[in-house]
Amino acid sequence: MKAHDGMYIGGQWQPAAAPDTIAVVNPADEQVIGHVPAGTAEDVDAAVHAARAAFPAWAATPPAERAQRLAALRDELGRRTEEIAETVTAELGAPPALALAVHASLPVKVAGSYAELAGSYSFEEKLGNSTVLMEPVGVVGAITPWNYPLHQIVAKVAPALAAGCTVVLKPAEDTPLTAQLFAEAVHAAGVPAGVFNLVTGLGTVAGQALAEHEGVDLVSFTGSTAVGRQIGATAGGAIKRVALELGGKSASVILPSADLAKAVNAGVANVMSNSGQTCSAWTRMLVHRDRYDEAVALAAAAVAKYVPGDRVGPLVNAKQRERVRGYIAKGVAEGARLVAGGPEAPLETGYYVSPTVFADVTPGMTIAQEEIFGPVLSILRYEDEDDALAIANGTVYGLAGAVWAGDDAEAVAFARRMDTGQVDINGGRFNPLAPFGGYKQSGVGRELGPHGLAEYLQTKSLQF
Ligand code: NAP
Ligand code: MG
Repeated sequence: MKAHDGMYIGGQWQPAAAPDTIAVVNPADEQVIGHVPAGTAEDVDAAVHAARAAFPAWAATPPAERAQRLAALRDELGRRTEEIAETVTAELGAPPALALAVHASLPVKVAGSYAELAGSYSFEEKLGNSTVLMEPVGVVGAITPWNYPLHQIVAKVAPALAAGCTVVLKPAEDTPLTAQLFAEAVHAAGVPAGVFNLVTGLGTVAGQALAEHEGVDLVSFTGSTAVGRQIGATAGGAIKRVALELGGKSASVILPSADLAKAVNAGVANVMSNSGQTCSAWTRMLVHRDRYDEAVALAAAAVAKYVPGDRVGPLVNAKQRERVRGYIAKGVAEGARLVAGGPEAPLETGYYVSPTVFADVTPGMTIAQEEIFGPVLSILRYEDEDDALAIANGTVYGLAGAVWAGDDAEAVAFARRMDTGQVDINGGRFNPLAPFGGYKQSGVGRELGPHGLAEYLQTKSLQF
């Protein structure tokens, strides 16, 4: 894999301040595929200065022109989907088909949505005797995770650029090569120097320096609740805007009138996709007691199709694999019943975990409460609708969910009572324009579509 040995700052690849590097590992075969520079506070400072310097001119650029640059970025990403998919497969371990269909293709759609929104969004509003101007917040510090390496970057950078903000990105240490490809695409799209800057490095060094930098006006973070809490506290102390997209423990609620086989198969597919490394995954399946045994049998049959090394990739690194295996062992220890998988590694090489299904999971168990971030499904039994709702809402999280019923109206009535930011009704499709984000401890703020754009704007009211 091609890797840049510098940082993309002020429109060019520049040498890093310190000589340290990070080795990038292919989690499927554990081989080192490249090295990128480990950024320091000095690199972050240089990038923030470049972003500040570029801000006034970019903020003053007419939205139609920003839209043109975003359209060029969309086209550039579209031209490179194969290279992007290969890179995501190499550094994340995503199976090639998933890498192309989701990891490489979804960001093209999201970039395209912001090319359109930048051109059509109303950056001015009349309210009585006021004209309200929607102005860019300023310099954005974006800190992204590895699970959807390009999507997470585009979901922050595209709306920020559409709004007129400038950006410094610190991508996950496990997936920096995809971030470097993105920087190449930004450059090729003719985005002015300094509008987008990339600093690779460790979260505890470069990430923390970015979150704490006084030249950053808004920190947008996606990742673990632990780091999000810390970033939120730092931003609060500095009276800085912050957007946090954190974990989830989403419920797929199968009401008695639902098509059970369809709901169970979709639920298993949802959890196994991307090896379970999806913040919005429906990791809890809630089934009425009268149909419970049938659902468990269907899930066990469905998961057999997810073969590690073929349809299911490895986890991103050894630490995540151990973490997930630890949760599986804990599920067994707390009395849940394994119907597929288990803590043993399915393959000798690579950070693989067996696709795992637990039955007889009760709401208080660790595996029913904590985000596992691996291919692990917990099936819980409920007595009636109120019980199902209490279980669905009974975690600290509220990011996504699903409801299955005989008709949409019945499912919608249940979805209205759920404490969560997104609900798919009877298998509804992902919509890149729908606001994505959490209730409760799943986060603060929304990404994607016009709501995602609004995160990067602040209002100025002029009275006449
Ligand atoms: P993480 O540490 O929160 O990583 C997210 C991003 O934050 C990475 O770029 C990371 O850099 C950076 N970071 C880490 N410590 C930081 C700090 N003190 N200040 C500023 N930035 C910092 O997440 P992880 O350790 O990779 O994954 C652990 C768990 O988080 C997973 O098991 C999962 O439960 C959850 N997670 C959630 C999502 C999501 O989409 N909501 C995504 C990934 C993980 P490094 O890459 O160098 O650590
Ligand atoms: Mg980390």
